[in-house]
Amino acid sequence: MDNDITWYIDKQIEKTINALEKRNMKGIFVKDEQELLEVLKSLIQENSIVGVGDSVTLLETGVLDFLRKGNYVFLDKYREGITSEEKKQIYIQNFTADTFLCSTNALTEDGELYNIDGNGSRVAPMIYGPKQVIIVAGINKLVRNLEEAERRVRNYAAPLDAKRLNKDTPCTKLGHCVNCKSTNRICNDFVTITGQFVKNRIKVIIVAKTLGY
Ligand code: SF4
Repeated sequence: MDNDITWYIDKQIEKTINALEKRNMKGIFVKDEQELLEVLKSLIQENSIVGVGDSVTLLETGVLDFLRKGNYVFLDKYREGITSEEKKQIYIQNFTADTFLCSTNALTEDGELYNIDGNGSRVAPMIYGPKQVIIVAGINKLVRNLEEAERRVRNYAAPLDAKRLNKDTPCTKLGHCVNCKSTNRICNDFVTITGQFVKNRIKVIIVAKTLGY
């Protein structure tokens, strides 16, 4: 990568991590997947209960495999053959997990986390329940402000997510959001996390890669 671009990204990351700190959340920067897994090992206690939200980033970075192979009580919503009833049970169990992992749809330079969700099973435990929430985000999720976050999510992340989930929505045909009223709409909950009562309950690990949508 061009040195000037690296410099710009470093500055953006530094600003974001400082802003997260001011909001009682912790920002951590890692350069790749290997460093990410090392950090996770240090943050997640063995034998503890770990849940995850739906995330392409966790799949791409090997975090799901890491949890499956590790010494954790992993609430694996992706387990082969899982029924929708069992999945619902896991969604409820996630509220009492020691650690909940997911990504974010956008992270502003001012330290705000912006997310959309279909049924709330990802954003709800981010807000309340698990003792710690670890958010893994590639540098592609960094945006200047909430306006840019909404634009990114509506016109990029949500249509791609709807496509991944094979949803019959206008965006999977048009490639952009028309703010539909479809019964398959995946954009039902818009959540902005702007701070925490419990210091560092939310930890955001920024990986120097393009990950997920
Ligand atoms: S509101 Fe509808 S059209 Fe827009 S991204 Fe969500 S599902 Fe697609």
